[in-house]
Amino acid sequence: MAFPENFIQELTERSDIVDVVGSYVQLSKRSGANYFGLCPFHNERTPSFAVNPSGQFYHCFGCGKGGGVINFIMEIENLSYPDAVRFLANRAGIQVPEETVSRDAKKRARLLSANKDAARWFYEQLTTPGGKRCTDYMAGRRISPAVAKRFGLGYAPERSGFQQAMRAKGYTDWELLDADLIRKGEHGFYDTFRDRLMFPIIDVRGQVIGFSGRTLGDAGAKYLNSRETLVFNKGRNLFALNLAKKSKAGYIILSEGNIDIVALHQAGFDSAVASLGTSLTPEQARLLSRYTNEIILCYDNDGAGIKASQRAIGILERLDLKVRVLRMTGAKDPDEYIRTKGADAFRNLLEGSEDQVDYRLNSVKAKYDLTQDDQKVAYLREATALVASLPGPVERQVYAIRVAGEAGVGQEAVIQEVERRRKQLLSRARKTEEQNMNRPERIAQPAEKELRYHDPISAAAEEGVVRLLYLEPALASEPGLPDAKAFSSEALRDIYSILLDRIRKGEAVSVASLAGSLTPEEMSLLVRLLQKPEQLSNGRKALQDYVAKIREQNEADPSSDLNALRDRLRERKGYHS
Ligand SMILES: [Zn+2]
Repeated sequence: MAFPENFIQELTERSDIVDVVGSYVQLSKRSGANYFGLCPFHNERTPSFAVNPSGQFYHCFGCGKGGGVINFIMEIENLSYPDAVRFLANRAGIQVPEETVSRDAKKRARLLSANKDAARWFYEQLTTPGGKRCTDYMAGRRISPAVAKRFGLGYAPERSGFQQAMRAKGYTDWELLDADLIRKGEHGFYDTFRDRLMFPIIDVRGQVIGFSGRTLGDAGAKYLNSRETLVFNKGRNLFALNLAKKSKAGYIILSEGNIDIVALHQAGFDSAVASLGTSLTPEQARLLSRYTNEIILCYDNDGAGIKASQRAIGILERLDLKVRVLRMTGAKDPDEYIRTKGADAFRNLLEGSEDQVDYRLNSVKAKYDLTQDDQKVAYLREATALVASLPGPVERQVYAIRVAGEAGVGQEAVIQEVERRRKQLLSRARKTEEQNMNRPERIAQPAEKELRYHDPISAAAEEGVVRLLYLEPALASEPGLPDAKAFSSEALRDIYSILLDRIRKGEAVSVASLAGSLTPEEMSLLVRLLQKPEQLSNGRKALQDYVAKIREQNEADPSSDLNALRDRLRERKGYHS
């Protein structure tokens, strides 16, 4: 799936970042090295999204996202790396080299075809004697054959002829491995899914991209999902969105277990979807926003469910989606609710589900006696503060008018008060943002939690090494460059290895050319660290200083003896997960 170097180079040369970003984000006049605009990846009112024309990268000082032109398209159009490359090629009117397209496209087509054939085989197992175990289970959960068919449900037996059947259809073991339909263990290949009720995961284009299997026994995880493959990206897809996108409901119900989704569709709620074993990601939220303006959250009625709801509300509201929360009482999940109380009761629940704002405004109102003048003032103070925090101007106006009505005061006065508080809120937010940016220990940490530095002193020096190599690739031939293993930060270690590798192979080093090798998080980290000043006039000396610092920290770090062990554990973990 690699594109030729010279093609990527031509593509990025003909896709100017200011031009490309400018067609999505309104960029202000240039100030200093950068153009600024409102970040498309997080909600903000003061521009902190910078586009750097000389470095050909973007970086958001608010949310930390960054990268080159290809990353930008991947992020904003929700595309994989090769698809983003094709998108840009099409935009720039450049021909994508035929041979690579066909090789890459061929492999994807093979995996998709293997998934489709596997889904068909799992479905056929339902009518075999061995499949009775699964149909009994489905009957127990009251899943009708018609709905099973609509979802393409199937059964993966414990011991089966799955591999033989797939080989007979012409798939190689490597293709089956790449599709994560089989895995390799100490004793050879084994079926990924065994004794599980199978839910094919179908994307919005109707292609089977992976599977989710629910265990019928007690062994193993309740749900097992396919690993990420060339055609399956968990964070960018949702279970049942292929069906929900056709719904006329006007909203999408977001829930969790696949069984719940099937139960909801069966009961007539055909706009239900689930995230795939992870909490809702911003990419999934953006995908949802293409099909609806309104989301109803319907998570399990327990601590984990409430947490998941709160997290999802944050992500969805950033996209200006209307969010309502369903409160189920007397049942732990929608499946149980519908089974015990019926579909009509659930529909009432849906219709009565409160708007987040309604819910919060009503709780404020309940605290005060609005016939008393002093309490009325206190109510207005609290209610206007709440309304001022809403991102949409129309929304603020609507609720301001409501608050005025409740308190029996003039609308205009309340609207003005809300906007005054809104301004206050924004200037306070901006100040905090600025303070955070000026605090070195705060910006020293990557925005992504997973990438946090545990040794910030060493990491600062590691950043320095990466920055120098990027800006001055000739330094790669300096003696005494540290081994990648000496890096304390895993992300910086990856970036360093890839950078060094490219330089030594004589390949180009630019943010754009690295897009295919770094994860989006690593890319954001790279772009951020590139913006710190560097003494290039004496790069060699700076490099030596950084290297010495890394060595020093390595020796001082009591855990450094554990590095080898940690690496081993990590390799093992990577193998199994
Ligand atoms: Zn941002």
